[in-house]
Amino acid sequence: MFALAVILFSALPARSGPVPGSLPAQWNIGAEDCAAAPQPPLQVYAYEPQTLILRQNPCANPEANFLYLLIGSEKALLIDTGAVADAEKMPLARTVLALLPLKDGARLPLLVVHTHQHHDHYAGDTQFASLPAVQVIAPDLASVRAFFGFDHWPEGIAHLNLGDRVVDIVPTPGHESAHIAFYDERTALFFSGDFVLAGRLTIEDTAAEKRSAARVIAFLANRPVAHTLGGHIERDTAGHTYAEGATYHLNERALELSRQDLVKLPSALASFNGFYASHENYSITHPMHNLLALLFAAFVLLSVVAFVIYRLLRWRRRRS
Ligand SMILES: [Zn+2]
Ligand SMILES: [Zn+2]
Repeated sequence: MFALAVILFSALPARSGPVPGSLPAQWNIGAEDCAAAPQPPLQVYAYEPQTLILRQNPCANPEANFLYLLIGSEKALLIDTGAVADAEKMPLARTVLALLPLKDGARLPLLVVHTHQHHDHYAGDTQFASLPAVQVIAPDLASVRAFFGFDHWPEGIAHLNLGDRVVDIVPTPGHESAHIAFYDERTALFFSGDFVLAGRLTIEDTAAEKRSAARVIAFLANRPVAHTLGGHIERDTAGHTYAEGATYHLNERALELSRQDLVKLPSALASFNGFYASHENYSITHPMHNLLALLFAAFVLLSVVAFVIYRLLRWRRRRS
């Protein structure tokens, strides 16, 4: 009986967990003087054979975006096209097409999508515009809603089947109104764009961001998360944030964030003062609120200066 049970058990397929992969401790970090030390524009790293990560060099563009290529048995999915349009400076389409496997003698069809409608995430679209067997979904909200079938945006989850590989799409507006995140069921990787990343979480709409964080936590409740991978790395290993426009990421920290970084987001947003907050692996900032606060402070300062000048003039007039 025991022998039969062993035979039966060993005949069953092994319990399938997420396909494991690896990430480098250090990516290409640019250079202090890009002209003196020319950098390869694009770094390609295989997390596992069917999951490729492309990093744009900080010298090519300081945004230094991360793009993700997921390969199924029927189709490949490119998430974001990065910050550089010029194919001479950034051979993105050429590199991506060369990475696509052949099926029945033809390259696998490619679907190009975006985490959101910020220029550094879709500037490379032009390189894919007229290629055969390539479909580019525009990053605006109407196109995103129509393609993925979000009838009750931002509620609901969409699903993309790449052939033996399903990717779930979670609406995550807040950083930008058409933002979406991607969960890959094959690897349990969560591609978070600029919704969550190791750096600045810049918020356009705090209420929408809070609802997005709750939506993501609910979606992930009974799913594993191998890593959370964002669109940029903006911090060094000591937790300092690089200056805007930096072409050199000295001691750049790892790309990946954990499930915990996502889980902590609702409480981080609940305690957000509307201007700035620093947390373990990211900071939260609301640029519009900060600008308004700056304008208000400038207005108060100018009013005080004007008042002082007025009193001084009156005082001098009385004395003369
Ligand atoms: Zn963005
Ligand atoms: Zn970005």
